[in-house]
Amino acid sequence: MSKEKIIYGIIGNPLTHSLSPVMHNAAFKALEVDAEYQLFPLNEQDLSVFFENLRDKNSPIGGLNVTVPYKEKVLEYMDSLAPLSQKIMAVNTIVISKDRQLVGYNTDAPGFLAHLAELQIETAGKRVAILGAGGSARAIITTLSIIPERPDSIKIYNRTSSRIDNLLMELGQRIDISHIESVNSVDALNIELADILINTTSIGLHEEDLCLVDADHLHSNLFVYDLIYNPAESKLLALAKKKGARTANGLGMLFYQGVLALEHWAETRIEDDVKMIMRHALEKEVAQ
Ligand code: NDP
Repeated sequence: MSKEKIIYGIIGNPLTHSLSPVMHNAAFKALEVDAEYQLFPLNEQDLSVFFENLRDKNSPIGGLNVTVPYKEKVLEYMDSLAPLSQKIMAVNTIVISKDRQLVGYNTDAPGFLAHLAELQIETAGKRVAILGAGGSARAIITTLSIIPERPDSIKIYNRTSSRIDNLLMELGQRIDISHIESVNSVDALNIELADILINTTSIGLHEEDLCLVDADHLHSNLFVYDLIYNPAESKLLALAKKKGARTANGLGMLFYQGVLALEHWAETRIEDDVKMIMRHALEKEVAQ
């Protein structure tokens, strides 16, 4: 009797630009498993039925990723949360057990740290400036605050200040946030004194987007990380490079979070040759 193909996928909205299918389908091919990674663009009102169906023992779905705008919304559908996702209170990877129990993981945060480690960027004792306070910022701020290599200070600016206030109020109930300060302008981030600048906003995705940071604030002692990976060089990264700063886009974070997600689904380590195939598949899609 032939076994049914296992379906993996990503839920979110919109999903048209997701690179996750390219990365995971390349891995499935390399691993010679009968599986396919699909896009599940869902409206919010469809979530509860989707999750109800997911619990059906005949469902072909073996695991999921979650992206904007549902990383926090899906918490209510999980049967349990891995410790890190419980701290971050956001889920981007769902593991489905044999008895169809849903376990929520966050692989964005370790994906980000793994990319920093690859780039040999140290965070301990550093001054970090962050643009944005959305879902990805939540993961990055939380993880930077709980690792032993915690930065000395984290300043955050977000267009909607109430979003940072709410985030910090909520995070403060779970972790020490005494080193975190919310500021009300990009200027007040004091980027000229910072060691690391991280853009977690979606500004830079589109050609017409202006750069949030004034070029005069960028400097050669700065490391600038932009979570955006398409375009491979956002205006912010281009400006920073011109000023002699070290830069990186978020493709490495996407890659590492994808590897971790696959390892959770497969309950095994992914060999380096398959990881290489996943990374090349991504890099082919985004001219680096
Ligand atoms: P969210 O929608 O949760 O947050 C978006 C952030 O961008 C908010 O801080 C929002 O501010 C800000 N923003 C949006 N439009 C503007 C604007 N016109 N002016 C100023 N600020 C603005 O998204 P995520 O945090 O999940 O994702 C953010 C970016 O990071 C996306 O580009 C996404 O593709 C990328 N990303 C990359 C990953 C990777 O693996 N490399 C992983 C996750 C995300 P406000 O609160 O005021 O609306």
